[in-house]
Amino acid sequence: MSLIVQKFGGTSVANPEMILAAARKAIRAQQQGNQVVMVVSAMGKQTDQLVDLASQITDRPSAREMDMLLSTGEQVSVALMAMAIHSLGYQAVSLTGAQIGIRTDASHTKARILSISTDRLQHLLDQGNIVIAAGFQGIDENMNITTLGRGGSDTTAVALAAVIRAQSCEIFTDVDGVYTTDPRLLPEASMLEQISYDEMLELASLGASVMHNRSIEFAKKYGVPIHVRSATSDAPGSWITSQPCPSERPVCGAALTKDEARISVLGIPDEPGMSLQVFSAVAARQVTVDMIVQNISEQGHADLSFTVPCNELETALAAIEEALASLGAGRVTYDEHVCKVSVVGLGMAEQTGVAEKMFAILAAHDINIQMISTSEIKVSVLVDQDAAIPALRAAHRAFELEQDLPRRLTGPPPGAVVADAADVAEQLQEIGMEELVLDDITLDTTQGRVTISGLPDIPGVATRVFHEIAAGGIVVDMIVQGHDSHAEDASLSFTVPREHVAAAAEIAERLSQEFSCRGVSSWSDIAKLSVSGVGLRSNTRVAVRTFRALAKAGINVDMVSTSEVRVNVVVDGSSGSRALESLRKAFADRLQGTDAGN
Ligand code: ADP
Ligand code: ASP
Ligand code: MG
Repeated sequence: MSLIVQKFGGTSVANPEMILAAARKAIRAQQQGNQVVMVVSAMGKQTDQLVDLASQITDRPSAREMDMLLSTGEQVSVALMAMAIHSLGYQAVSLTGAQIGIRTDASHTKARILSISTDRLQHLLDQGNIVIAAGFQGIDENMNITTLGRGGSDTTAVALAAVIRAQSCEIFTDVDGVYTTDPRLLPEASMLEQISYDEMLELASLGASVMHNRSIEFAKKYGVPIHVRSATSDAPGSWITSQPCPSERPVCGAALTKDEARISVLGIPDEPGMSLQVFSAVAARQVTVDMIVQNISEQGHADLSFTVPCNELETALAAIEEALASLGAGRVTYDEHVCKVSVVGLGMAEQTGVAEKMFAILAAHDINIQMISTSEIKVSVLVDQDAAIPALRAAHRAFELEQDLPRRLTGPPPGAVVADAADVAEQLQEIGMEELVLDDITLDTTQGRVTISGLPDIPGVATRVFHEIAAGGIVVDMIVQGHDSHAEDASLSFTVPREHVAAAAEIAERLSQEFSCRGVSSWSDIAKLSVSGVGLRSNTRVAVRTFRALAKAGINVDMVSTSEVRVNVVVDGSSGSRALESLRKAFADRLQGTDAGN
């Protein structure tokens, strides 16, 4: 018998009528011959109200008690849903996360799922029940209730779909599907009929809150097809599977992270292991770090900039202060008035010029870019918060994302199910379902690097640089621009094929003089190492492990860029093979299907 998981978000169960409507959908799916597991979120804004209640008692509620409080929202809605199904004459049983056996680690308010037992669930399904699971919660080894982080019911749903080998996971929500960007921010956004796991993972972690990013990690690792659709209609929505959207567009979507803060750590000694000290301190407190940029050292010092979610700024700053105190050097500056605008698309890997186009459109709107970080399938820029919507709109329009694509699908896209996912599933139930899975670690010695320091902090510089480089017929790979707050300027580094380093440096030199920059430096002998896998950015430990492995081998990191599917580091060319060796050793326990993993 086929199995299906249906998840209903908060706005889709906001009142008794909507609960009854959701119950009818589940009953219909059962009548069509499926065993049905429902995953339900707290009603409407219930979770926000509980958060607010806690804040009226204390500014610093204990994380354990917060989980105890927030998990009640879902307990209410699952019980009401079971009653609704009973009232319609069908069998249903509601279960909390603990009753299902969703074991998590003990990191309250952002717990990760370790394992899920399926016995009770399967037994209840076999007896003809619709099983209603409370979303967003689990239990740690000491029987403490944990929650998975805001929006975490999606993750419960996909994780359950993974362990019971459901045919698909339907996400019923208050939009018709996945759009090219949040349609509440840009009404001109268009709906996507299908999107790949990698693209959705990237978009979700860069601000597309329609899906909890960790749910997509599950979907990709376990090969679960996801169908995001409207709770109030029967219209088909968007499929998230291994298959990308068949479109010529290099970009499939744009996202905005509004509540981002930039942190710069200035004047740390430019020696192997120094970045590590800062990162491990931040990562130890489970802060999600993004847009890591290490500026090339001047007078033996390095400046390190990165972004963190605003609500984790205080924790990150405390961790850094501690790390700097033990280093006996460096100081911190930060800016909370920034936001991150990103464009994402698998097509970028084949089509050049995406980053250049993004910089050009922002310059045309007089928007200053404070930081840049590019990876194979995304370009992120940091801009002032006041420019958030204009920047998002400009990027969305530049890639013609408002244009509807023709609808072709009548069911899941062909080839959506990943055949070997079952093996991964077995293995991960043992070590922890959300554990890191890496595909490969590679070394690229075909590139060189150009760095322009002391770029003035004004709109239009990045676009001029990449316009001229492209006009010279040179293809740029990695781009990072850091914010240099002590000098109120920035430093921009990029990699190009080795044979083009001299030409690129010449162009950079000309522009450096025109813009009165401090200078240009170039290296034709660099090594780029890429660690690829699933959910790497949300797993801050990957960056830390990378830095640690390189520091241990005495290798300095010159450039870093991270995405959900890849962490790239650039080191001196002469250290390339040693760096590869040390990374393979450091990640041996997480590498799939390579010698290191066996
Ligand atoms: P639920 O309560 O059903 O989980 P959420 O509020 O978490 O719903 O997610 C749905 C919301 O996600 C939409 O109302 C929309 O505003 C927002 N959203 C953000 N980015 C996107 C996107 N790219 N496509 C669709 N919706 C998006
Ligand atoms: N109720 C939780 C929240 O509001 C979980 C969820 O809705 O996914 O974040
Ligand atoms: Mg949600």
